[in-house]
Amino acid sequence: MNRIKSAINGIEGLIASGLAEGADRDALDAVAARYATLIPPAFRALIGRPDDAIGRQVIPHPDELSVAAHEVADPIGDDAFSPVPGIVHRYADRALLKPLLVCPLYCRFCFRREHVGPGGGVLDEAALQRALDWLAGRDTISEVILTGGDPLMLSPRRLARIVQALDAMPHITTIRIHSRVPVAAPERLTEALADAMQAEGALWLVLHANHASEFTPEAAVAIRRVQARAIPVLGQSVLLRGVNDDEATLEALLRAMVRLRIKPYYLHQLDAAPGTSRFHVPIEEGRRLLAGLRGRVTGLAWPTYVLDIPDGHGKVPIGPEYVDAAAGTVRDPAGRLHRLAPGGARLAGAHARG
Ligand SMILES: *Cc1c(COP(=O)(O)O)cnc(C)c1O
Ligand code: SF4
Repeated sequence: MNRIKSAINGIEGLIASGLAEGADRDALDAVAARYATLIPPAFRALIGRPDDAIGRQVIPHPDELSVAAHEVADPIGDDAFSPVPGIVHRYADRALLKPLLVCPLYCRFCFRREHVGPGGGVLDEAALQRALDWLAGRDTISEVILTGGDPLMLSPRRLARIVQALDAMPHITTIRIHSRVPVAAPERLTEALADAMQAEGALWLVLHANHASEFTPEAAVAIRRVQARAIPVLGQSVLLRGVNDDEATLEALLRAMVRLRIKPYYLHQLDAAPGTSRFHVPIEEGRRLLAGLRGRVTGLAWPTYVLDIPDGHGKVPIGPEYVDAAAGTVRDPAGRLHRLAPGGARLAGAHARG
């Protein structure tokens, strides 16, 4: 058997392939009993060491059993905003539709880790119809975001059925698909699946990737296939300790996206899902990282750094900040302080970034 070509979905396979220690078997069995585990061939081939940027994202770790005091099963409070199964509605003009909870891989830092997994979690036809009926009756909603799980794990036929149903609703002008498939399982992104994404209205794809090496030649082909259908592709990433938490790595990730005509959209602050604290990067550090790229890296590569406020209070940008409106001052990309009003001399002051 060619290991590089096959997925790893059990602890035995992890240990046999040298990605986990035999001594950790009991702890890892306990992790796998609680959280879905799957390393697809595309990611398996990128792992050099278990603790490298790709390995950390997908290899289960004994630390996942330690739940910090602030970590909770529903960190962004989705449950309270679900009017019918499969729908999350928090903002007036847009709603999430989660047709399935299956993913092409299971990220160890996932904010929905208590819900996603290969076992079930697919809305059956009746439940899907109820969710679509709910959306059909809400004409304040103009955008539906297909997420999950990963909507590109649906069959082309089922994805087309959902896209067509949404596209036929006069008030739905935008369909957004959030997916990791183009990097995690590019072989799934066939012409048939790309055809299933076509809509009369605007359809956007938001690709989740966290490291430049995820953009393999196969991933690039999959992304092109989507772009060839006039579907804009945006990027979203999570700021993760040991994965992309230094300036050079973050810059390489964002530049890899721009090269593939992917506009970096969001850089997410990690949500406090259970057992994810080994990935935590403090907000102050995230701001410093981004500030370090400002002015040096094309504005096309600049994402909005966002926090999903715990308990369902919504997403907000979290900096870095440049203007101090009360003081009437602003920092330039190099960290120097200036007056907001033109003509003022440069102010004396710290050169600290952040
Ligand atoms: C993140 C999210 C959205 C999308 O927010 P944008 O800022 O438009 O990307 C919509 N609904 C819910 C419930 C969300 O969590
Ligand atoms: S692909 Fe998304 S939903 Fe699936 S495990 Fe990763 S972060 Fe979670």
